[in-house]
Parts: sequence; structure tokens; C-alpha cells
Amino acid sequence: MNTELIYLKDNNLKQVTAKLIKMETTEQGQYCIFDQSVFYPKGGGQACDVGTISNDSKVVFDISYTGFHEGQVLHYGDFKDFQFAEGSSWELKIDPAVRLTNSKGHTAGHLVHLVMEELVPELTATKGHHFPKDAYIRFDGLTNVDRDELILKANENIKKYIDEGFPVKSEILSLDQLKKLVKNIPFNLPEDKPLRTIAIGEYFPVPCGGTHLNDLSELKSATITKIKHKKGNTVVGYAFD
Ligand SMILES: [Zn+2]
Repeated sequence: MNTELIYLKDNNLKQVTAKLIKMETTEQGQYCIFDQSVFYPKGGGQACDVGTISNDSKVVFDISYTGFHEGQVLHYGDFKDFQFAEGSSWELKIDPAVRLTNSKGHTAGHLVHLVMEELVPELTATKGHHFPKDAYIRFDGLTNVDRDELILKANENIKKYIDEGFPVKSEILSLDQLKKLVKNIPFNLPEDKPLRTIAIGEYFPVPCGGTHLNDLSELKSATITKIKHKKGNTVVGYAFD
């Protein structure tokens, strides 16, 4: 049974009541799988949510890491010898500060992608890495414009869009719908997750399974810090708050 990925439909929900499917102990540690989850599991260039699970008897465990495997979210924690009953009810809660940081990073990444492709249309984004201390978007192709000037212009545009407070819209789609809507389909679309697109304002939608802000005004800032050429790619580093 796959875990229903609540965060795909609702970015704002921070907790949910879920039923335990199973608890496993492996060499990597102990993890729980539930029928649904608000936890974003690490992947797609985004760090995972952390938080807690608790039951009616006030048993609380920290969830320190979440991963995704074959359609299921694995919630890792130190559950010691606790006997989990299959089908038992648990309250899953994420840490809202960690979620906010990760959503800012991911949303800022989309903004960098949008602004760069607007200014340099020959670039095609191929990878996003949205971790706070090492955030970048990698594009296929090279820029033959002055990179310092490009950074200045791109940052002006980013600031303008943040000031406009454009909404971040998401939509869950079938593969056929996605093919009609999206200009570059990545070759690595997930087969075990629903497909979803993200669009900033009225700009082109892109496939994405991460968590995002509701609108750009929730970003205090996003700034391109460097543009590097590497093996036929352009790597655009950015900072965000
Ligand atoms: Zn995204």
C-alpha cells in the first residue's frame, strides 16, 4: 500500500492523523510507514521534513529523517522496543520551521529557473538543489553574455517578482495532461508518485514534487550569488531567506 502524500495536495497542512501500516527495524535504523503522511521525504533536491509522531496514550517519538521507497514514506526514529500495533492511529506532525526553510529554498529555486530562462532562453534547467547552504540550479547549455551583468539583471528581476508577490500554483495531472502543458519533460519523472506541476504567477508550469510557499511575498529575499560554467552546463548558485 502506497503512502498518500498529503503535502502534494496541501502545502499548509502541518499535521495529520494516520494509520500505521508497519514498523521495520533494519541495519539503517527503525522506521514507520503510515497510510498517509504530511512529511516530505528527502529527494528531488530537497531536504526532508522532521517532526514527531504521537498516539492517544501520549507516547511521542521524534522523527529525525524521512525517505521515500517504492511508493512509501519511511519515517525514521528511535522507537526502542515499543510494540506498534498495525492499524493503530498516530498523529503525524512536522516541524514548521524546517518546512518553511525547505519551502523557501525550493520556491526560490523556481524563481531562479524562471528568471534565468527568461533572460537566456537557450538554457534548459536540468537539476535543482535547494539546500540552504548549497543551493543551485543547473542548466544544460552555456551563456555567452557577461555573467556579472547577467547576475545583476537577474537579481533585479527576482526582486521585482518577489515585490509583486506572485502566487505559486500547483496542479496534479495525468502524464498526458503534463505532456501538453510542460515544455521540457524531465527524463526522470517519478513512477511511484502522483505527477504535479508548479507555476509562478502566469509563467510556464514545471513538473515538481517538492514543497513550496503559497506566494513569493513569503520570501524575504532570493539572490543569485554566482554563475559558473562546468562541463557544458551553467550552474547558478543562489541564497535565500
Ligand atoms: Zn518545486
